Amino acid sequence: MKFAKQFIVEPDTKVKLADLDSEQTLGYKNDAKTQAKLDKSIQRLDALQYLLFAESKRALLVILQAMDAGGKDGTIRHVMSGVNPQGCKVTSFKEPSAKELAHDFLWRSHLATPEKGMIGIFNRSHYEDVLVVRVHKLVPKQIWKERYAQINAFERLLADNNTKILKFYLHISKKEQKRRFDERVDDPTKNWKLSAADFAERQFWSEYMEAYEDVFSRCTTAHAPWFIIPSDHKWFRNLAVSSIIVETLESMDMQFPRPAIGPLKRDSSS
Ligand code: ATP
Ligand code: MG
Repeated sequence: MKFAKQFIVEPDTKVKLADLDSEQTLGYKNDAKTQAKLDKSIQRLDALQYLLFAESKRALLVILQAMDAGGKDGTIRHVMSGVNPQGCKVTSFKEPSAKELAHDFLWRSHLATPEKGMIGIFNRSHYEDVLVVRVHKLVPKQIWKERYAQINAFERLLADNNTKILKFYLHISKKEQKRRFDERVDDPTKNWKLSAADFAERQFWSEYMEAYEDVFSRCTTAHAPWFIIPSDHKWFRNLAVSSIIVETLESMDMQFPRPAIGPLKRDSSS
């Protein structure tokens, strides 16, 4: 559990994001050896997803959170590139619709949770309800401050029903965000990714950091841990996320089910 151990947020710890190096690569270099390791991890994930589906007793939920340009989309594109599309469902959470707002904040997340045998990926999640909602005061404090406990109870319910939960924060520096925004301005194939809202949100960087730090100290649990992934280097981010997912699935001791009609014999009729 090398990568998991390195980046997990243990329960009851206070995180200061500014103290965590977003350029960390644990000594890995962006070379052919690292690429080969990532390729192997991506292949292994495919085999493990096959086993998860064959067993169909458990589900895996991967939650991705990051600041704008933090790399949620790129992580999904790379890390899941080897997985059978039938075994994996990605849900992107945007501003809630009128219908979603007419329900409790966890309703839309619960609807999107993976069924047994499946990997579910949340691109943003119910954590937005204690992040953007808190930073922009979209609901009063007495409402959002209750949500940490509500989220913990919700994730406990999922875990008790055989859903393994992994939560990743893709940690980039404010400087790296600026570099990525500039790249999006300069590159015509990336212009479309930028919105005025991205620049506006950047003004609230420190408020977001504070809101994230509260999320980590209040909502990391043994059954649904947070991992803070140094993400200034995209190749390292992909390696770390992929390795943690593989390490976790490996540790679940999944078994192929015994044939329902055993013992199986080859059909000898012609
Ligand atoms: P990309 O920009 O890469 O397409 P994105 O996830 O940033 O991906 P956008 O459509 O740009 O997608 O942004 C979605 C917006 O919806 C974000 O600003 C996010 O904070 C907001 N959002 C998500 N959940 C909620 C929520 N519960 N309440 C209010 N706003 C939310
Ligand atoms: Mg966006």
